[in-house]
Amino acid sequence: MIETTITIDGPAASGKTTVGYELAQKIGYVFLDTGVMYRVATLAALNANIDPQDETAVVQITQTLDFDIEPEIDHEDGRHYTVWVNGVDATWELRKPAVNQNVSAVASYPQVREELVRLQREFADGHATVMVGRDIGTVVLPDAPLKIYLEATPEIRARRRMGDHLQRDYNTVEFEKILADIIRRDRIDSSREHSPLKPADDALIIDTSTLTPEGVLQAMLDAVAERELPILNG
Ligand code: C5P
Repeated sequence: MIETTITIDGPAASGKTTVGYELAQKIGYVFLDTGVMYRVATLAALNANIDPQDETAVVQITQTLDFDIEPEIDHEDGRHYTVWVNGVDATWELRKPAVNQNVSAVASYPQVREELVRLQREFADGHATVMVGRDIGTVVLPDAPLKIYLEATPEIRARRRMGDHLQRDYNTVEFEKILADIIRRDRIDSSREHSPLKPADDALIIDTSTLTPEGVLQAMLDAVAERELPILNG
């Protein structure tokens, strides 16, 4: 069994999910977007009328989560996976503004992280995986043979995110609001005490500001080739 892992970290809307998914497809690895897990914990808390600031209650609900992430290829609405929460398809609900607003607080709780990191490591154990998040190269899988960190200015990321929103009918969300949300999440994610957002010491840093998604993908494929990582589908 091949258990190679590639980690991709970076701030909100840095393109991690899009290019990480493409990379995984190209080289035959399984893709896991760990942000989804923090969003599931947040949505579960909101749906149970738990105040996201109530750390004890959020930790409790995280430890009893019932969810599943099912890979999708060529799905009609463009999703890369379906997320089932308590047996219900919550894939797009996980992207709603209330989740965006509260997810970074939920992700700052050490016991929430402990539980979700455990699941992430379990997932990587047994799959060749491209795992995407904030702390994958630094904390979750520090021994991964290829660690990538994507960055771009908040303005560029907000513009990209706006394109995402428009495609999915969130057309009332204006640029300034998205930009403010990105800056706010960056601040919380980078300054939190546990597993803050930062590149691993040996990460390959790719500035995506001036690159197309194809250019980013190519830089990643070059790194895979350079490190002689196995290609599993060709
Ligand atoms: O990547 P995405 O924007 O979906 O992540 C949502 C939030 O989950 C991030 O803003 C961050 O607070 C948290 N997160 C994290 N560690 C990860 C992945 C996501 O703290 N590995």
